[in-house]
Amino acid sequence: MSKVVILGGGESGTGAAVLAMVKGHEVFLSDCNMITEEARNILSQNGIEFEEGGHTREKIMDAQLVVKSPGIPDTVPIIDEITAAGIPVISEIEFAGKYDKAKKICVTGSNGKTTTASIIYFLLKNAGLNVGLAGNIGTSYAYQVATCDYDYYVLEISSFQLDGMYDFKADIAVLLNITPDHLDRYGNEMENYIKAKFRITQNMSSEDCFIFCADDQVSIEHLDKIVLHAKQLPFSQEKEVEQGAFVKEEKMHVKYTDKDYQMFLNELSLQGKHNIYNSMAAAITGKVLNIENDVVRESLTTFQGVEHRLEKVLKVKNVLYINDSKATNVNSTWYALESMTTPVVWIAGGKDKGNDYEPLFELVKEKVRVMICLGADNRKLHECFKDKVGEIYDAASASEAVELAYKHSIPGETVLLSPACASFDLFKNFEDRGKQFKEAVSKL
Ligand code: ADP
Repeated sequence: MSKVVILGGGESGTGAAVLAMVKGHEVFLSDCNMITEEARNILSQNGIEFEEGGHTREKIMDAQLVVKSPGIPDTVPIIDEITAAGIPVISEIEFAGKYDKAKKICVTGSNGKTTTASIIYFLLKNAGLNVGLAGNIGTSYAYQVATCDYDYYVLEISSFQLDGMYDFKADIAVLLNITPDHLDRYGNEMENYIKAKFRITQNMSSEDCFIFCADDQVSIEHLDKIVLHAKQLPFSQEKEVEQGAFVKEEKMHVKYTDKDYQMFLNELSLQGKHNIYNSMAAAITGKVLNIENDVVRESLTTFQGVEHRLEKVLKVKNVLYINDSKATNVNSTWYALESMTTPVVWIAGGKDKGNDYEPLFELVKEKVRVMICLGADNRKLHECFKDKVGEIYDAASASEAVELAYKHSIPGETVLLSPACASFDLFKNFEDRGKQFKEAVSKL
C-alpha cells in the first residue's frame, strides 16, 4: 500500500481515485477548482478523502505517487514542486494500465480519435468480443478497470494523457494524423507535440501493431527518425501499400499477413475523405484481430457516427442541416468542407486559438455561398473571408445563426456548422454548441 495523490477531480481523476482505493492504496484527491456533485458523490461513497477549491501542499507532498489529470499543465507550481521532490507524476491511463491485463487498442491523433475509437469498439462488439471503450470517451478507463472485467479495451488517448505515460504498452496503436493543435502546452514547438503523439508506440514489441497514415507527412518524417519494433501497418488514399490499407478503383483494400479484405467506398456509412481514413484504420484493426470479413463489412456499413461530428440533423425545405460542432480546429473543418457535395451555408467561428485559415480558402471559394460568423468577436473571420464568400452575416447565438441560415439558404443547399474554433466564448463547450444548434434546427 502506498500513498497516492490524485490531482484533478474530473472524470479521469475520480476514476483513478476509485481504482487506487480498490487496489488498497491510501488515497487523497485534490482539485484547485470546485468539483461536480456527481464526482463528490462517487468519492464519498467510496470513502475517498478529497479537497476542492485549493491544494493542501503538505498532504500532496506526502505522496509516493501522483496521478495528474490531463487538464493540468506540467508548468503549474504544484507540479514543479512535486517533480522537484522526486515524486513520480503519471497520467490516469498509465495508472490504470498497471492493473489491466486486457488487450489494448489505443487510438490517438489530432483529429478523428473519438470517431475511430467508436468504430473500432462497434466492430469488436459486433464480433462478439468482451470489450470496453474508454479514454477520452465516456466513463474513465481507471473506473472501468476498477469495476469491470474486459478482455479488450479500445482507448482514445489524447496527447496530454500520453505525456504522463511511461510503462504503458498498447497491443495495437493507431495514430491517425498530426496537425498543429494545443501547441501552447508544448512550448509552441511542433516537435514536442509530435513526440508526445508518438509515445503511443513506446514499449511496443514485434508482436504488436502500429497503424498509421502514410499520407501524413508529419507522421512519416518522424517515423523515419525513430526505432520502432512493432509491425508497421500504414493506410493511404494516395498509394498502394503491401501491408495495411489503401484505396484503388473506388475500393478500400486491406491486407494483413495473407488476409485480404475489400469493400466499395460508397458502402461506408461515414462519408468524407477523413472517414475513409478512419474506416481504414478500423478495418486494419479488425483484420489484425482476425475478425471475419462479413463482420467488418457489416460494421463499417452500419456505424451510425458520433454526435457533433458531421452529424446530419434534419432536412428542412430541402436544406440539410449538419452539426459538426466538434470541429474545433482548421483541419477538421477542412475535411467537413471537403466532404460537402452541395453549395454550403457555413456557420463558423468562436474562440480563435491563433488559427491560420489559409488552408480553407480554396474550399471556401469553391463551396461556400453564405457564411455566418458565430463568435463573440468575428473580426478576424470577416477579414480572412470577405473576398472569398458572397454574403457574410454575424450571429451571437446558435438560434440566431440557424435563423439566418434558414433565411439565406436555397433548396438543395447544406447548412454546415463546422466552426474551426473552440466554443468557450459563447457556449459551455462544443457539446453545448451542438445541442443548441440542433434545438434551433428542430424548431424551424
Ligand atoms: P477527436 O476525438 O480527435 O477530436 P473526433 O472524431 O471527435 O476527433 O472528430 C473531431 C472533428 O474532426 C470532427 O469535426 C470530425 O468530423 C473531424 N474528423 C474526424 N476524423 C478526422 C480525420 N481523420 N482527419 C481530420 N478530421 C477528422
